[in-house]
Amino acid sequence: MQEGSFIVFLKNKLQRFKGQTVSRATGKSGTDFSAIDFIKIIDINSFGNLIFFVFNDFFLSMNFENSGSLLVNKSKKTEADFSLHFPHSEINFYSCETQIHQGKPTDFFQFPTDILNQKFDGELALSQLQQSFADENIGNALMNQNVFVGFGDLVRTEALYRAKIHPESLVKNIPEKKIIFLIISAVNYADELVEQYKNDEVNAKALIFDKKICPKDKSEIQVKISSENNRKIYICPKCQKLF
Ligand SMILES: [Zn+2]
Repeated sequence: MQEGSFIVFLKNKLQRFKGQTVSRATGKSGTDFSAIDFIKIIDINSFGNLIFFVFNDFFLSMNFENSGSLLVNKSKKTEADFSLHFPHSEINFYSCETQIHQGKPTDFFQFPTDILNQKFDGELALSQLQQSFADENIGNALMNQNVFVGFGDLVRTEALYRAKIHPESLVKNIPEKKIIFLIISAVNYADELVEQYKNDEVNAKALIFDKKICPKDKSEIQVKISSENNRKIYICPKCQKLF
């Protein structure tokens, strides 16, 4: 799963295509995309790992999953999985899954769970965490797509470090004030990260992700990699309290 912030960064780059008419849509999957030919893009938005191209009666979702990428007016050596062509430009998508849905994105996706969406509802997330994930460790609960959307490895590590919470703390043992601070830290950091992607300074600005020592106390940073999904989390054992 990629950072929701990276997907928002990509979505922002595409905003000039809003209001433009697609001249042709092509994909190598063999799916018929002719419904998209010669129609106008009403909106372009995102949710977690998805970017939506919204048309009048239906929308297209592009799933960037773990390694999806896009290029505007450029192409890779390998054939694009999907392309949107315009009279004077094109967008090429790689390693993305493309789907057409009837209706609107809000009919299918819970935008208030997305930490990068203006509709994000922190109180709902807090009560969900406390009610349904009390016995889970917080590091895992943050990645649960029913509670939060938009967390990648980077936001998870950096938000827990900023809130001084050890990822293996059980949700029920963490004081409510600390969880609220964690949620606020995650939302703020995810927003900052969108800018950092734009300025190519993600690694330089990260405090402990992919680092060897804690900037505060010079402790050695621990790294844990989950065997089942290869996700990484970095921890400062001194700064982050285990509840
Ligand atoms: Zn530290």
